[in-house]
Amino acid sequence: MKYIIRAKKLITVTDVGTIENGAMLVEDGIIKEVGRWDTLKNQIPKFDLIDCSNQVITPSLVDCHTHLLEFAPSSLYPVTTKTHFLAGKAILFKALSSGITALGEQICGHPLCDFSVSEYRDAVADFPMDISFATTSISIGFEDLAHFTSITGSKAVSQSDLTSSNLVKKIAENSDYPGENIFINATPANFTEDVVPKAGEIIYTTEQLKEIVAIYHDADKKIGCHVAGEEGIGMAIKAGFDVLHHAHGITDKQIDKVVEKGIQIVVTPMGGTHLPPNSPEQIVKLIERKIPVSISTDAYLPPYPGVPWLPFQDRSLKGPDSLMLIAGPSMKLLKNTFDENQILALLTNSPARILGKENQFGRLEPGLAANFLVAEGIPGLEITDVDQIKKVFYKGVKVIERG
Ligand SMILES: [Zn+2]
Repeated sequence: MKYIIRAKKLITVTDVGTIENGAMLVEDGIIKEVGRWDTLKNQIPKFDLIDCSNQVITPSLVDCHTHLLEFAPSSLYPVTTKTHFLAGKAILFKALSSGITALGEQICGHPLCDFSVSEYRDAVADFPMDISFATTSISIGFEDLAHFTSITGSKAVSQSDLTSSNLVKKIAENSDYPGENIFINATPANFTEDVVPKAGEIIYTTEQLKEIVAIYHDADKKIGCHVAGEEGIGMAIKAGFDVLHHAHGITDKQIDKVVEKGIQIVVTPMGGTHLPPNSPEQIVKLIERKIPVSISTDAYLPPYPGVPWLPFQDRSLKGPDSLMLIAGPSMKLLKNTFDENQILALLTNSPARILGKENQFGRLEPGLAANFLVAEGIPGLEITDVDQIKKVFYKGVKVIERG
């Protein structure tokens, strides 16, 4: 399959920047050339024309921290083991129709699910989306703390099991990328405050964290953590984590350390920890320090209450279709100082890099997969409504079309 697709402008998210009146050649699912329409149009009729000259083309979106296949199906639908992945695929389809063609999924262990990590992988192997899995352990802040792991399924484990090097090794072996591989603080998960009074409690010592990090690094894997609050973040930095997820409540001094150590941060402005989530001002501060930042939803999640930058009126669970909406305030605040390509990288190239797939997708660049969308404006910056995303392409194939 060979085509040339024309647009009002292409946001490449590369050094080339924005190309007005641009076009892109796609062959066998790969981007072949990106340039001006004037210089590429002579490729017709060798290449079929798809004319989107009134619309914008950008790389499709990447949400590098989600819980769509393990926690979401039973939170959203009355599923059984038999129908769990039917609901899972419906949830993935909603993400795809929101312009997202790559996910970083967490498999944490869950009281209601006994699927193995490979069953999650197999269930979505044919879905037109690139899914990386982070295998993790999780600590939920109930009155009696509850711990699970991706290896032990629905059976709760003890706090001391969490640092068993055998178990940690198995978790590390199955992990594709540095997601929230361990929860330094107990999480509120999707529960209201009264049910999870111990959310925020620190589960590990710095020594234990160092040992866990060493197990991942010895296996040649990067490791990320769920962390919030000055104390936990300080421990994570000392222990040598590669990626901090959330980092709610990070201090200016800790930002200096993060810069010094080259740590990446996945911010979740909708919530996800016991503390108020990353504000647009904090996200701008991280980016001004040139820290590689990705914005992600941590979906499905109830929005943190009383946060002025979130537009939600209720606390019902929000999904990846909210990615543009929750990223919008930060992206708009960056507009005074940064180019639109650098800003869109927060939802494309940076999360692709967290997944270790920056050489596969996340930019409009020759040689990368033709994962892109056609929209009425730049996602997050100019549009936040998924209905304004008109077409989504995955590996060169149109998978979403809106009239
Ligand atoms: Zn999470």
